[in-house]
Amino acid sequence: MTSTETDCLFCRIVAGEVPADVVATSERSIAFRDIDPQAPVHVLVVPRDHHGDIAQLAAADPELLSDVVALADEVAGDLADGQFRLIFNSGPRAGQSVFHVHGHVVAGAELGWSPA
Ligand code: AMP
Repeated sequence: MTSTETDCLFCRIVAGEVPADVVATSERSIAFRDIDPQAPVHVLVVPRDHHGDIAQLAAADPELLSDVVALADEVAGDLADGQFRLIFNSGPRAGQSVFHVHGHVVAGAELGWSPA
């Protein structure tokens, strides 16, 4: 039984109701290209179940968080050289705009460091 929310964009992508460029899947998570890429490889890894942010996911289902991280690693190995940054924005002031937890896999270039 999966947890979904009808007005959640990423639940709708998981359900196949909104198209996405899916690059990898696991039984419990999917990975698709960000619509506004900020790096040569910019992929979002999303658990199929709805959780609001990474802390909520970690508290509710740590195995699912582990699945998300494993899929991120797989994507970075398939689409880049295996080295990657994995970013979870938590809360609007941190830049979160979609409130279904997602890890940004950023890879494929020498990455700078200017988060603020
Ligand atoms: P955040 O701002 O951390 O919540 O990240 C949300 C990300 O979702 C942004 O990087 C958007 O570019 C991306 N995004 C929004 N809508 C879509 C979509 N339909 N397909 C793929 N990525 C999307």
